[in-house]
Formats: sequence, C-alpha cells, structure tokens
Amino acid sequence: KALETHRLSSLCSELKTENSDLLTLSQTDGLTRLFNRRYFNNMIEVEFARIKRFGGRMGCLMLDIDYLKRVNDNYGHMIGDLVLQQMANIIQANVRNIDISVRYGGEEFVLILPETGENGVEVVGSKLLSAVEKHEFDSESNPEVPFPKKLTVSIGGSHYPYKEINSAEDLVSSADQAMYNAKRSGRNRLVLGWES
Ligand code: GH3
Ligand code: MG
Ligand code: MG
Repeated sequence: KALETHRLSSLCSELKTENSDLLTLSQTDGLTRLFNRRYFNNMIEVEFARIKRFGGRMGCLMLDIDYLKRVNDNYGHMIGDLVLQQMANIIQANVRNIDISVRYGGEEFVLILPETGENGVEVVGSKLLSAVEKHEFDSESNPEVPFPKKLTVSIGGSHYPYKEINSAEDLVSSADQAMYNAKRSGRNRLVLGWES
C-alpha cells in the first residue's frame, strides 16, 4: 500500500513536470526561445485591460531586421536562422527580466515594457539599436563560415496611456506604424509613434 502511494506520487510529479514543459513549449518559439505570438496575444489583452482599469503604464517596441532576405539569399537560410537566434540573444541581454520579449513574426520582434513611459521606451529602443549596431554576428562554432558580420534593425515605439491608444491592438499597431516609418526613412533607426 505504501509502495503504491509512493508510485502514484512520483507519477504525479512526473506529470506535473511534463505539463509545465508542455506549457513552456506552447508559449515559446522553438528557434529563438522567446515567447511566441499566441502567448503575446493573450498576455497583452489581459495586461492592457488590467492597467486600463486599475492604472499603470506600458511601453511597446516593434523591431524588424533590416534586409534579412539578402542574408538568406547571399548566405543561406541556415545563416538567416542563426542571425535570428543571435538577435533574440541581444534583445534578451538588453532588457529587464520583467519585460516580455516575443518573436512576433518571421523576423519581427515585439517587446512589452511594463510600467514604462515615453522616456523608458526611448532609452530601451536606443539601447537595442546600438547593441545590434555594435554586435559582430558570426557562426559561433566556426569562424571560417561566411557570415554577414554587421546588421541593423528598424524599431518603432509606442506607449500607453497616450491619446489615441485605447486598446492593446492600438498599442501594437502604433509601434508597427512607427517601425514602418523607420524603414521608410532609411532603416537602422528608432521612430517613436508619438513624435511622428
Ligand atoms: P526590410 O529591411 O524591409 O525589413 O527587408 P527584409 O528583407 O528584412 O524584409 P522582407 O519583408 O522583404 O522579408 C523578410 C524576410 O525575412 C523574408 C525571409 O527571407 C526572412 N525570414 C523570415 N522568417 C525567417 C526565418 O524564420 N528564418 C530565416 N532564415 N529567414 C526568415
Ligand atoms: Mg518584416
Ligand atoms: Mg526585415
């Protein structure tokens, strides 16, 4: 009887571990280990509703790699994937633990910065821009592998509360529009939605 209880309890803890592994898997992107878009969509709705009701601030940054297609065309898709992984590492290294880093699309990343206003969004955005500019991308394991050493990103920023922003969707599309303006005006730059 005692043996049976013991077996059941170890089975139960195995299942718990398995469950939490599955939860992590369902929330993260396999290539970069950042949160995935599904997790992001749920999280931002809840967070936005919370601060809209109880007060608080939220910053958002949208980041898109400049000319990644050229990297794939010139060096191959595998190298493009390595670039994406290194980009995710740069992002993680330059934000706080409480910030939420997400692989939003193929080569697009979105960041949610809790309790962050205009200044904070600008600081983090500039920091990311220059961290990417400074980074030497390489194959890590084999320095002989041809690699696009230098790459840049275009970044757009938004924040709440701000006049025209009434929903999580508004917050993201404002950052997206700002990012698009960063592309149009020459890339490798940060554009703040509330300034354009
Ligand atoms: P832009 O500066 O305008 O952003 O140029 P771009 O080439 O980065 O952007 P575009 O929108 O023309 O194409 C995005 C490219 O990103 C298409 C594809 O080659 C690449 N890409 C998207 N997802 C992945 C991925 O998972 N792995 C790799 N290797 N490449 C990807
Ligand atoms: Mg893109
Ligand atoms: Mg791009």
